[in-house]
Amino acid sequence: MSGDPFTDALHGDAAIVDGVDVAPPIHVSSTYDRSEQTDLVYRRNQHVTTRRLEAVLSALEGGSAVVYPSGMSAVASLLRYLNPGRVYLPADVYHGTRAYVTGDRHSWQATETLDDLAAGDVAWLETPSNPKCLVIDIAAATAELGPRGVTVVVDSTFATPVLQQPLALGADYVMHSSTKYIGGHSDAMGGVIVAADQNRSIELEAARVIDGTIPGSLDVWLTLRGLRTLPLRILRQSETAAAIAVYLESRVPIVWYPGLTSHPDFELARRQMSTGGAIVSFELDSHAAAAEAVPRFTVFRRASSLGGVESIVEHRASVNPLAPPGLLRLSVGLEAADDLIADLEQVLALAKQ
Ligand code: PLP
Repeated sequence: MSGDPFTDALHGDAAIVDGVDVAPPIHVSSTYDRSEQTDLVYRRNQHVTTRRLEAVLSALEGGSAVVYPSGMSAVASLLRYLNPGRVYLPADVYHGTRAYVTGDRHSWQATETLDDLAAGDVAWLETPSNPKCLVIDIAAATAELGPRGVTVVVDSTFATPVLQQPLALGADYVMHSSTKYIGGHSDAMGGVIVAADQNRSIELEAARVIDGTIPGSLDVWLTLRGLRTLPLRILRQSETAAAIAVYLESRVPIVWYPGLTSHPDFELARRQMSTGGAIVSFELDSHAAAAEAVPRFTVFRRASSLGGVESIVEHRASVNPLAPPGLLRLSVGLEAADDLIADLEQVLALAKQ
């Protein structure tokens, strides 16, 4: 482990010897020959490509990683494992996480305040948040909640391990939807939990065997392949996102980007993250204005999801009724900034504002 994400993304799995291949092979076998001297029994229990992906993620986050078939599978698995009394959720949070936490299939209570959390409760901090890119002070939260015995989980999907390091700031767990930046090519689904305490990751892995939530071979292989270039991608995407945010600020009244001085969490983001990230949200006047604008984009693809190499635009209220009605979320990809800004310019020229 070098401690530098550019090196760790490429060599974090170097200790796992897997033949002479420079690129990791895809292991598809569901079971293993038990006459060989090996700890491998059955793919739901152990899987070599999965282990390699987990080794790289562990190196990047500075903890012990366990991977799942989707981000939501990671959310559900961790909460089932922790089995808390109460779960704090911020007001702006991924709508799937809200649906899981507030659903009626569990015994925990959802709460919107950190004040009365106590031992055995969970604070679920999503930072930056989806879709407004609001930033939570992880170090301040862990300093206050840790001594009270509250488990702090950070959904760091928007930041990636390259831009922010929640475990170093005192969090107990980091969660990612690796479907987003970690995979990075809109072709694999996955989720990750990284535990600060290795004993916790061993228990999570044991629970995964029984829950049957091992991800598929192709998904973990594609995620590992994508992860090699994560540092390069997220830094370039952040740079383009910052240029787009500055442009948008001159064109629309509300822009949500933590790298802008006008963002309510600008100072905190500057301390906690190495860039403002690669998601920019902005608001048009109404639901109708946003809905009419979306089909006019020609470079941004109109789709759900984010974090891929291609830029994506989504009218969030079309999938999340709690999102501001006129909010468009941009996931900024690897195209030239000028082409993306020209696309926005032609859309905004026609938009009712
Ligand atoms: N957390 C955040 C912040 C997300 O944006 C998403 C998906 O968009 C998830 C969790 C869930 O991940 P997945 O779609 O991989 O299940």
